[in-house]
Amino acid sequence: MENSKEVWRRVDEKSAAFFALSDRIWGTPELNYQETRSAAEHAAMLEAEGFRVETCVAGLPTAMVGEAGEGGPVIAILGEYDALPGLSQEAGTSVQKPLQAGGNGHGCGHNMLGSASLLAAAAVKDWLAHNGIAGRVRYYGCPAEEGGSAKGFMVRSGLFDDVDIAICWHPAAFTGVNKPISLACVEVEFTFHGRAAHAAASPHLGRSALDAVELMNIGVNYMREHMPSSARIHYAMIDSGGIAPNVVQAKATVRHLIRARTLDEMWDLVRRVKNVAQGAALMSETTVAIQQLSGDANLVGNRPLEEAMHANLTSLGGPGFDAADRAFAAEFQKTFSKEDIRASYGRFGLPVREGESLSEDIYPLDFNADLFVGSTDVGTVSWVVPTVQCRVASYAVGTPGHSWQLVAQGRAPAAHKGLALAAKAMAGVAVDALSQPALMQAAKDAFAAFRADNPFQNPITADIEPPLDMAAH
Ligand SMILES: [Zn+2]
Repeated sequence: MENSKEVWRRVDEKSAAFFALSDRIWGTPELNYQETRSAAEHAAMLEAEGFRVETCVAGLPTAMVGEAGEGGPVIAILGEYDALPGLSQEAGTSVQKPLQAGGNGHGCGHNMLGSASLLAAAAVKDWLAHNGIAGRVRYYGCPAEEGGSAKGFMVRSGLFDDVDIAICWHPAAFTGVNKPISLACVEVEFTFHGRAAHAAASPHLGRSALDAVELMNIGVNYMREHMPSSARIHYAMIDSGGIAPNVVQAKATVRHLIRARTLDEMWDLVRRVKNVAQGAALMSETTVAIQQLSGDANLVGNRPLEEAMHANLTSLGGPGFDAADRAFAAEFQKTFSKEDIRASYGRFGLPVREGESLSEDIYPLDFNADLFVGSTDVGTVSWVVPTVQCRVASYAVGTPGHSWQLVAQGRAPAAHKGLALAAKAMAGVAVDALSQPALMQAAKDAFAAFRADNPFQNPITADIEPPLDMAAH
């Protein structure tokens, strides 16, 4: 407990600079693998804190690792700083108002995510140095969480090979240990090539790549009835072949995102989607080129670390929102549907509390949640290192993920309070693991027992190139 209190105090002492870092990242929202300014801010903060910094790791220009301490176990604290397209939004207003039409925005709160993780790492670094304890803490600056699978590439390049445990968090509307429920996922791009022709004068000479994309999507939509109900398939038109309806489209590209509970289930769906694509090519007399862009494993839990995280959160209590925070959040709730608000409780197995704009509670370690159907590249890390995450209330109850309302709340006082609580919880777990060999061993034993029965292959296989230009379309 003394160790926890010391590292929590160190978080508080440092927090102002990290709130400012989070706000600066909020102000420079950058997409997958284009996070040059955000990465530079994080690298500069690591340097200023005295970490040994390596940038451009794993062949990713915006990824980095900062290490501090000597010898002993290695604790990884994972951060992110990528934003989302089309979510530009003014801060602090509950009216939709883009700062830049069509611009980017931090609709998943990764400005807070990365800054809190770096703050936790800095506090643990100071705790190690002050107490003369053997051990290393590493901050992993991970780009492109939104579909770019940077952590999978970082795992593939061996950056986690000597790590003992990994710790992470995500901003949320409620506070508690993250349930290890997420879907394995993969993004695959299908580019069809046909033959251009004058669409009126010689249509019989054309073979439409756009037709092929449409036929493929119809085929995939017919698959939906015959796949596991927990699986998900989404698609986006990357290139529909141009703007001229009077030219038969010679080239068209569709990107499919395929999710399932396990990697095996996911790869089987990928096989079927590829068959559908080949069928569409056959029907339209086009050819199809298939390229995997990214891929994440599902999350694996680690009970001893989850218990340690829960104990830290319970000791810390909620974020400490005040009346002004609650009034601010209540304004945003007016823009949500009742269903959004009610459903957000269900995802954490919580009873609906009418009139609650911000949650101060720590939800129980064990609950029956509605299926959480997202994916994260932390999943891949969790298969190679004992990993734990928490969620921390940082915005209004009912705030939809990836929404302008989330962007608008991203640098409010409530966001800063969530950020600080997350940093304390993560730093607390790190010092618990570094000061209690029994906890470290229990985490490793639980991990080894799981892996003994569950072989793993990183969905980022040796032949996959990092999709550094995936956001450039
Ligand atoms: Zn996120």
